[in-house]
Amino acid sequence: MDLMEPASLEAGALRGRPMRRALSYAEYPVSKIPEHVVPWEAAANSAASQVTQAVRAGIECDESTGCVVPPLHLSSTFAFRAFGERRAYDYTRSGNPTRDLLATALAELERGSGAVVTASGMAAITLVGYLVPLGARLIVPHDCYGGTYRLFDAWRRRGERQVEFIDFGDAEALRVALSQPAALVWIETPSNPLLRITDIAAVASLGHACGALVVVDNTFLSPGWQQPLTLGADLVVHSTTKYLNGHSDVVGGAVVARDPKLTEQLLWWANCLGLTGAPFDSFLTLRGVRTLHARLEQHGRNAHALAHWLDDAPNVRRVWYPGLASHPGHELARRQQRGFGAIVSLELEGGHEAVREFVAGLECFSLAESLGGVESLVAHPATMTHAAMDVAARERAGLADGLIRLSIGIEALEDLREDLARALARASRVLPARPFSRVAAAC
Ligand code: PLP
Repeated sequence: MDLMEPASLEAGALRGRPMRRALSYAEYPVSKIPEHVVPWEAAANSAASQVTQAVRAGIECDESTGCVVPPLHLSSTFAFRAFGERRAYDYTRSGNPTRDLLATALAELERGSGAVVTASGMAAITLVGYLVPLGARLIVPHDCYGGTYRLFDAWRRRGERQVEFIDFGDAEALRVALSQPAALVWIETPSNPLLRITDIAAVASLGHACGALVVVDNTFLSPGWQQPLTLGADLVVHSTTKYLNGHSDVVGGAVVARDPKLTEQLLWWANCLGLTGAPFDSFLTLRGVRTLHARLEQHGRNAHALAHWLDDAPNVRRVWYPGLASHPGHELARRQQRGFGAIVSLELEGGHEAVREFVAGLECFSLAESLGGVESLVAHPATMTHAAMDVAARERAGLADGLIRLSIGIEALEDLREDLARALARASRVLPARPFSRVAAAC
């Protein structure tokens, strides 16, 4: 695929444009449409609800057989029609019909102009890093996902990027950081694992004023619960490993762009660097996307009920969940999200030892990294997801030893609640005896 290297973006070239619906193929404004971008047939009906778009993504798209579910194209290479006559696809690293169906679906769901499907969420984050020049100034939240922190920090230490880790909850620190030119502002909202909420529209406007591309990692909510491009972001990143696939059987990622010029650049770099996702993974992820909204509904209902129940449970020092009125980001989450998500973090009394007992007492939650699958998971950020952060960085990010992150699945609510109650009772065995528990004191 001989795509030319795209010219680098002029500073500010993408700002101030009104948000558009996904474009049809005929309207696609770039001078040379990459041959492997599939026509936006499904996007033609922009009035279709997001739920219907997700369910019907790629359905009945193969004229040759009429199959309802799109076929899986595993071929790594595609024959030329004749000498010098290339077809729409030539080599799967650069373009693949199955992967393009997923990219089209994700771009529609996020209201972007196009998307690139990558081999992992980290590949998507790496890809975004190639949009900015060496030495560029990057503003990144200090409590971003541990793997994102590790990558940006490695770039910083090698002198490849000037990365500033900022507490996005500190308005003054953010204002100062964004009063000087920057190439990129990274937003993760809700943050991992404390679920801090960042005002996407406000930060996007500050970021654009200092010349930066504004990127939102939307992994924790998926487009079903939040659409950052409609709030002013330029790019959305996903670990599709999580809610979009939803079944914990694929590692994948995606970058969705608001502007077609950015899509073009992303496609070029993804092919150049070999970051694109595998067809089989794309097939499974597209299958997951069809049930995204049905899953989110059950995830959300379970998480809401359990967060409120845990908030009153004995030996739980604190619960973080944006759906609790006591959460500092509650009002903002109500405004910019369609749901509060399905991650609930809690800090147990008793630190490490209590965590060990709590985890050992669980039967319906698997002790595992990751989130967003139909099954419930429990993780201990300090020793698992955020182990890549040194102790000082973890302390700055507020990640205590007793902190636990729950990814609430779609099992029966009562089973999850009983499981948590049993585990809390077991964890309480390591606490020194106290005259009254919180529940007893409240009675
Ligand atoms: N972004 C967030 C918010 C994540 O939680 C993760 C993984 O947990 C990633 C990115 C990286 O995704 P992947 O594991 O698919 O590379």
